[in-house]
Amino acid sequence: MQNHRIAVIAGDGIGPEVTPAARAVLDTVGTRHGIAFRYDEFDWSCKRYLTEGAMMPERGLEMIRQHDAILLGAVGDPGVPDHVSLWGLLIPIRRGFRQYVNLRPIKVFDGVESPLRHAAPGSVDLVVVRENVEGEYSEIGGRLGRGQAEEMAVQEAVFTRQGVTRVVDYAFDLAAQRRSRLTSATKSNGIVHTMPFWDELVAERAAAHQGVVWDSEHIDALCAKVVLEPSRFDVIVASNLFGDILSDLAAAVAGGIGIAPCANLNPQRDFPSMFEPIHGSAPDIAGRGVANPLGAVWTAAMLLDHLGHGEAAAEVEDAIAAVLAGTPVRTPDLGGTAGTEEFTKAVLAALSR
Ligand code: ATP
Ligand code: MG
Repeated sequence: MQNHRIAVIAGDGIGPEVTPAARAVLDTVGTRHGIAFRYDEFDWSCKRYLTEGAMMPERGLEMIRQHDAILLGAVGDPGVPDHVSLWGLLIPIRRGFRQYVNLRPIKVFDGVESPLRHAAPGSVDLVVVRENVEGEYSEIGGRLGRGQAEEMAVQEAVFTRQGVTRVVDYAFDLAAQRRSRLTSATKSNGIVHTMPFWDELVAERAAAHQGVVWDSEHIDALCAKVVLEPSRFDVIVASNLFGDILSDLAAAVAGGIGIAPCANLNPQRDFPSMFEPIHGSAPDIAGRGVANPLGAVWTAAMLLDHLGHGEAAAEVEDAIAAVLAGTPVRTPDLGGTAGTEEFTKAVLAALSR
């Protein structure tokens, strides 16, 4: 029996509604593969921020650094500015635990309607590799002359050789395990310092990964191509900001943000990685038991894969595909009438077959 300790941060809104689905799936598939999961729950959230003034305790990172992985539901609250949850929880964990790869797989499943008529089931299977700890999301900059005619704001983006190289290497390695195609997102025509540096480093690393065919696209043209011809992409590597935008765009192309997962990976494994569905706390549907649990369930598959249980991970993905293709059970966001629990039960049933 192999044991894993998982830190669970269910968070806000639908977060606590979808994380039980991920846990149930882990337990079910774990039983079959001789893996036991132990969960420690942490109430870090906007709820906590509203009562205690901080998203998490000051020594929060210390409390979860020994865990094998972190399972996150969602954080957000209409009464709390987005930057609070981002800078008070997500970014400290991503940076503190050197989770420099943000991995977002995107697929069009049979049985899920993509908003694109031409995106046939199975035709879209891509992964966005987003740089997760530096780049455009920096605290360097400031505001000058508030309220005056000359008022200005400056925001610096910081790209380092080490930071870009390691995420680009990860993306090339991933492409080599898949269909050996890599696209790098750039904007070196308009952003004249950081993006040419990014391009140079991608070209440099390409030389070390000869088996992968690669190209570079400006982010604006790339967004258009992901909509027009999503099937031509395999792995896309992008900076923090561009990757953020691209992965939501690609998830929408695939038929809904309720399905899409994301992994914040520390490939060196010196700290735990964090797994979360890409959707937010969805305050508009929270508390009604109708949230789509598939994003959280697919997230569990990524967690399994990261912990070395590739076969178990594949079984979870197959169960998702089987429920979508073979049954009418779906939550309202996918056009059905099932609640979160019923949809989860259908996945668990498919897993046990
Ligand atoms: P946050 O600030 O927490 O990111 P948000 O409102 O910006 O929240 P989401 O929470 O992702 O973003 O919600 C966007 C829309 O997608 C909402 O209408 C929400 O109801 C819907 N949605 C998000 N996740 C799900 C889900 N798992 N199941 C069903 N609908 C969802
Ligand atoms: Mg949001």
